[in-house]
Order: sequence, then structure tokens, then C-alpha cells
Amino acid sequence: AKEAGRNNFHFYTGAPTPLERRTLSIEQRLRRGVEGQGFQLVYQPIVDTHTGSVRGAEALLRWPQPDGDPIGPELFIPIAESVGVIQSLGRWVFGEVCKQVVQWQADGLPAITVAINVSPIQFRHQGFLPSLLNILRESGVNPGLISLELTESALIKDIDESVKTFSILREVGLSVALDDFGTGYSSLSQLARLPLDKLKIDRSFVKGIEGGGAGPPIVEAIIALGHTLNLEIVAEGVETQQDLAFLREKRCHQAQGYFIGRPMIGNAFFEWCTMNTP
Ligand code: C2E
Ligand code: CA
Ligand code: CA
Ligand code: CA
Repeated sequence: AKEAGRNNFHFYTGAPTPLERRTLSIEQRLRRGVEGQGFQLVYQPIVDTHTGSVRGAEALLRWPQPDGDPIGPELFIPIAESVGVIQSLGRWVFGEVCKQVVQWQADGLPAITVAINVSPIQFRHQGFLPSLLNILRESGVNPGLISLELTESALIKDIDESVKTFSILREVGLSVALDDFGTGYSSLSQLARLPLDKLKIDRSFVKGIEGGGAGPPIVEAIIALGHTLNLEIVAEGVETQQDLAFLREKRCHQAQGYFIGRPMIGNAFFEWCTMNTP
């Protein structure tokens, strides 16, 4: 301690900041965790903008903490990617969703599509496709009821490889959605090459509907692009009646957001569907 005055660099390499400490503790817990242990999936409804009937759900990962606030996916997914546990976490998510879909079908839920988010790192890993196909086969799920959501950044790095992988996924019967559309930097000509089924309009654009100005025309342009490319268009982050009315009028096919329904655990989602089936 009495050297501290001379060895100034000790001062700079000293105690970790609160953020560093938090990241480190999440890292340690993620590494320690067995596949999926302590995680939970919730399901957010996706409805037809015209009829209001449920068409699908998006599976969203939750990580409740026994001793405090839950840690959100926006924080722990990037850490899971950087410490190399995203593959096993992703496999757990696939397995859980497939099991859930099989269960819902057995319980008499209509044939709705459940969307799974796939991280770019997960998608580019060479084990991705084989392990996905394995889980599909083992679960016995109808692949037509599963859709995968990927962001532009995941696909553009190697567009040829992405085109190939997408073709295989679609041959198997899965559908593929481009997530957070419009927030990336991809060129439209590259996007047009991808064999896609759906386009998801990012929440940030849907938010702009209420604000007026450039907001509504941008959403309208994205919808028009989706129609041109013959894609199913899903708007996320629909928070008001006004948002929904606008999207319906502009012929956006499906909507997801707090105005329609919050993410819920599997049983609650099942109940929600039985209450909301016209
Ligand atoms: P995302 O794929 O864009 O998912 C939509 C996010 O918007 C979800 O946040 C959802 O809860 C939230 N949301 C839905 N409707 C509304 C609304 O009306 N208003 C507002 N303000 N928010 C709404 P969440 O669950 O925190 O997930 C954040 C991101 O984490 C997701 O963004 C996705 O990129 C990632 N993520 C979640 N689950 C998984 C997973 O299982 N695997 C991977 N790789 N990523 C996941
Ligand atoms: Ca998504
Ligand atoms: Ca989004
Ligand atoms: Ca996102």
C-alpha cells in the first residue's frame, strides 16, 4: 500500500466497475448452468390483423433470479454468445418449444406457428443444422408449426451459406422470418436472394406510427416491400388500438405486442388462446 504512490498503474487496474462485476457474475452463472437449467420460456401471441384470431406465438427466453430481478435476454444472450454457451442454450430452447408444440396439439390447440429466435453465432456454428434436425426428429413435432427468426446481421456475413441453410430448413418444412427488419445495413438486392417466408417489422418503426411525421410512411413502405417480395408481414411492438388499425388498413398480415398480449408461460398462453378464439 505504501508503494501505491509510485506504482500509479495499480490505480488503473484496480477494482472492477459495477458493470464489469455484473457481467462477470452472469458469465460465471451461465458457465455453471447445465443445459437450460434455471431458464424459462414465455410465449407472446401473434394474431391476424383482420380477424384478431391467433396465428402464432413467439417464444422468448427468461432467466429468473432466485435472489432478485430477472436478467433480460438483451443482457444475457450476448454474454452467452461470448462465453460459448449459446449453442447449448439454443438447443435447450429448440427442445422445449418442440415439446410444448407437441403438447399443445395433443391438448387441441389449433395449428399455430411458434417462432424461435436464433442468435447469429448459433446460426453460423457448424453444428447448428444437424442438432436442429435431430431435435425436430426426436420430438416428433410437425415442422410446419415451427418458424425461425433471424436478424439481417446473422445472414449477410455469408449470404451464400445463409441461402443454402434456409433452403434446407424450408425443405424440412420450417418457415423462416427476417427479424428486426430495417434496423440492419443489408442491401435489398441481397435480401431478395434469401428464401424467406416472413418479414418482421421492428418495434422501433411501429412505435413511429403514433408520432406521425416520417413514421407512418416508413411502416407503409416496409409493408409494401413485403407484399412485393410475397412475404408474410408481422409487426411487433403493437401497443395501441391506433397502431393495430393502421397496420390493418395498410394490409400488414399479423401483429404482436402488448396491446394484443404479453409474453406468458405455456399454460397461460393455452388459456389465452381458448379465450381469444372467435
Ligand atoms: P426480439 O426478437 O425483437 O423480441 C421482441 C421483444 O420485444 C421481446 O423482448 C418482447 O418481450 C418485446 N415486446 C413485445 N411486444 C412489445 C410491446 O408491445 N412493447 C414493447 N416495448 N416491447 C415488446 P424480450 O423478451 O426482452 O427479448 C429481447 C430480445 O432478446 C429479443 O428481441 C431477441 O432478440 C432476444 N431473445 C429473446 N429470447 C431469445 C431466445 O430464445 N434466443 C435468442 N437467441 N434470442 C432471444
Ligand atoms: Ca424475434
Ligand atoms: Ca425486434
Ligand atoms: Ca431484437
